[in-house]
Amino acid sequence: MLVSFSCNDYLGLSHHPRVIAAAQAAVASHGAGAGGSRLVTGDHPYLGALETGLARHKGTEAALVFGSGYLANLGITPALAGRGDLVLLDELSHACMWAGARLSGARVLTFRHNDPGDLAARLAEHRPHHGRALVLTERVFSMDGDRAPLGDILGIAESFDAWTLVDDAHGIGVVEDGPRAPLEMGTLSKALGSYGGYLCASRPVIDLMTSRARSFVYTTGLPPASAAAALEALAILEAEPERRARPLALARRFTARLGLPE
Ligand SMILES: *Cc1c(COP(=O)(O)O)cnc(C)c1O
Repeated sequence: MLVSFSCNDYLGLSHHPRVIAAAQAAVASHGAGAGGSRLVTGDHPYLGALETGLARHKGTEAALVFGSGYLANLGITPALAGRGDLVLLDELSHACMWAGARLSGARVLTFRHNDPGDLAARLAEHRPHHGRALVLTERVFSMDGDRAPLGDILGIAESFDAWTLVDDAHGIGVVEDGPRAPLEMGTLSKALGSYGGYLCASRPVIDLMTSRARSFVYTTGLPPASAAAALEALAILEAEPERRARPLALARRFTARLGLPE
């Protein structure tokens, strides 16, 4: 037996027989690759079904599947902010949020990790001098494992007429409680056990992304097998909610036995 303390396959779904079977069936019926950008010939039914499922799961109007979480973040921020705008990131934000922010051409500033007071101070000082403003943070931080105080952050951002983009890469399937941001991106490669990225948002935002997010337009669609596997994993996740409790229960037992902080 192998016990892994370091992979992101939190629920072991990458090896679930139903997930494997869904991927195999998709390859058999739709081929190994998408064959083109989704805007040309690379769309296939699994992507639409997955987007419907992700939007329902997150309670948003719509969703869009990207080639990976990294590609999603490279495309989302530059589609919403540009020269003259402001992007404020939690200082511990993932590398691809930084990459998207820099690529946007907006002014990029940080606020202290999980510190709504510092966010408010930065917005008070800099928000008036910029057109649009976007706040970037993560639901569960990838390296430290702590959670953003999203209620406070969303309220402060809104009071300064700024949107918030939350990276939910480590939340979906494991830590799902708490408020939702207007923009929630994530990955299909962690608890969902497959590969690919997504954005859940309002219909107008998703429509904008399909023509403006360059990492969506100018790259090949996600392969059928990856989309079908993620779709099946999402179905399992929703039908068996008790699975979600297990990784946290194991983590608590581990930290308790070793005398580490939760
Ligand atoms: C893993 C991760 C990503 C990237 O997702 P991929 O689908 O692997 O490209 C983005 N953001 C965070 C916080 C991550 O941990």
